[in-house]
Amino acid sequence: MTELLQLDDVQMVFERGWIRKRRGAWAISGVSIAIREGEILALAGESGCGKTTLGRIALGLLRPTAGRVLYKGKDIWREKGDGLRPTGQLVHQDSYSALNPVRTVYQTLSAPLRRYGVPRNKLKEEVKKLLEFVGIMPPEYFLNKYPYHLSGGMRQRLVFARSIIPKPGFIVTDEPVSMIDASLRLSILDLMLKLNRELKIAFLYITHDLATARYFAQKGKIAIMYLGKIVEEGQMEMVLEQPLHPYLRALLSAAPVPDPEIARKKKLIQLKEAEPPSAEAPPPGCRFHPRCPYAHEVCGKEEPSLRDFGEGHRVACHFVDTLPPWRLI
Ligand code: SF4
Repeated sequence: MTELLQLDDVQMVFERGWIRKRRGAWAISGVSIAIREGEILALAGESGCGKTTLGRIALGLLRPTAGRVLYKGKDIWREKGDGLRPTGQLVHQDSYSALNPVRTVYQTLSAPLRRYGVPRNKLKEEVKKLLEFVGIMPPEYFLNKYPYHLSGGMRQRLVFARSIIPKPGFIVTDEPVSMIDASLRLSILDLMLKLNRELKIAFLYITHDLATARYFAQKGKIAIMYLGKIVEEGQMEMVLEQPLHPYLRALLSAAPVPDPEIARKKKLIQLKEAEPPSAEAPPPGCRFHPRCPYAHEVCGKEEPSLRDFGEGHRVACHFVDTLPPWRLI
């Protein structure tokens, strides 16, 4: 597999507008991630940690304040022509707002198909193929339906059908199943796995939900983001089986589990503060130190860098070696 998308030491400071008018507000600071062809990377963290901003930067929809965004080795903000085009597709949580309410299913798919060179006499056949591929069945029944006729799951399938028309190398999905009934979430994640497996589309899967991240990116990687920085990353199973950063451990200990026996015995990691500090003025040193139960004096002064603890499992914490062994129960 070769590198498809690379964000290299990316920073994003919003200098005016809705976040802050005078001093810049750091949304992302020094983030580097890479996605190979056909790979899945889950990007997880609390709301407001900067993961949506990072997704928009990956797509070329936002220009970072500093750092580089490389697509197939080319800096998308330096190359002329092709370089300035978005490099992938975006699917976000609200499928209703992503679709034009006055366009039928057929119109929603036939317009982009036409733009991408499908002749008029083949449009109906191609639309039906797409609908079948994403599991909107039987296709004939849905051709003349409007978005409001469809369930949340069906609408999200339609959005995915439209997103694959340009044959993207990768798709950024921002909480794609959070507005869908719990009973249908797995089927949408399975559809995404199908797009990854059969069309070799890479995914940047943005979520706050570690359970869906684990299901979807089981064979891929995960990066944990906290207040605009990556604090832990590596292969999904390795990271979630042996979490090293106190923030990830706290997230895992707080995540609901279906087994009541395990839920009762689970050790909850108590944070010093429940709410994260303001993203506008992140604390000095380790950004997690005001909440971290293992913080020492140095944590408030020196920022830890990401260090490799084997096989690409990288963690930004001064005290990884002295933390207690991880146990969920
Ligand atoms: Fe906690 Fe210190 Fe590690 Fe930050 S560096 S996570 S404050 S122990």
